[in-house]
Amino acid sequence: MIGHVDADCFYVSAERVRFPHLRGMPVGVLGNHGACIIAKSYEMKAAGVKTGTPIWEAVPLCPQGVYLKRDFTWYEVLSRKMLAIVQAASPRVEFYSIDEQFYLARDWTLDTARRLQSEILQRVGVPVSIGIAPTKTLAKLISDTSKPFGCGIVLDQHDRQELLAGRPITDVSGIAKRNAARLAEHGITTCDQFAAADRAFIRWLLTKTGEDLWWELNGISVLPIQMKRPEHKFISRGGSIGAASRDPARVRAFVVRNIERLVEALTHYKVCCDHLILSLLFTDAPERTLRSSLLGSQGDFDALLEAALHLLPLAWQPPTAFVHYMHVIAANLRPVARRQRSLFEQPKLEDIKHAVNSEMGRFALRSGATMPLVDVYGDAANAYDICDIYGKSCF
Ligand SMILES: [Mg+2]
Repeated sequence: MIGHVDADCFYVSAERVRFPHLRGMPVGVLGNHGACIIAKSYEMKAAGVKTGTPIWEAVPLCPQGVYLKRDFTWYEVLSRKMLAIVQAASPRVEFYSIDEQFYLARDWTLDTARRLQSEILQRVGVPVSIGIAPTKTLAKLISDTSKPFGCGIVLDQHDRQELLAGRPITDVSGIAKRNAARLAEHGITTCDQFAAADRAFIRWLLTKTGEDLWWELNGISVLPIQMKRPEHKFISRGGSIGAASRDPARVRAFVVRNIERLVEALTHYKVCCDHLILSLLFTDAPERTLRSSLLGSQGDFDALLEAALHLLPLAWQPPTAFVHYMHVIAANLRPVARRQRSLFEQPKLEDIKHAVNSEMGRFALRSGATMPLVDVYGDAANAYDICDIYGKSCF
């Protein structure tokens, strides 16, 4: 059997560990730009505040609420503590996301699940819900429905049917809007309809990913617990750039910042890439994604920045549109040890930067092209992001 541990409103619970007076109060955690709610307590949810609600709409809905900025450095501390407890309880554990683990449940009584739940609450201070089922997909579904602070088990056919009956198919992680729309065209909107559908048809409609979910919902495990993070196909850095901007210096500075973060990640994973992709999302124009193939396999700042700055004017001509989100993506990855060298390689500034920053702090020595972002670097909330937490298998 497979267990799934999932913290209840994790970011809020993590804040309550260090600020115990927040218990029982409506609490909202804000994204790094302080504009949107990215997590809320059950008390705040009851006031009508949803994930994604901007602060200016949340405050009138919940004026007595406490609003805090997220701090991934702290959340990672608690996440690793949770992981260690689950690892002590099971020989096979997957670090799925910052607040979720899958584990091999050798003893699958409700009692053992409750014991693990109370151990995590006592030693970490975070309430979790636990689901146990024959497959990862069912385990995640039953832990979701057991929230808050519940435990649920899918033991037999009857439990499985009860769990799936009438439940929207979008409750299954892996079936998002587009796939749900495709299924709806064929009259499939619930989990039980999906599980009862013809397997070959699901494979035709949603490829192997859909077929895997079909097996899993039918109680046959095809998605193993991954103790080691699977190899990356892509590595991406970026996200929102705060208030949308069409200032060329600011947008360019964000490209530089994201390339520096990407190079950090490539160095961590000891990989380099053959292609670089730049993706820009605008508030008032369709998304643009462009790819550049590099001269040999690259993992250093200068080569990747050159490629990104080559793509930038091809993707966006200021002042035509407001840039809102940006990603730089390393593609066609290969281990540094097996990289294709170029005839035109330069000595690496990157090594100096890495040596200084590992002593003096992340971003202490950085490109002068990031100068327009004094606000971003001056705010500690931007120092560490969720994608900087290594080892998770969710992305
Ligand atoms: Mg959670």
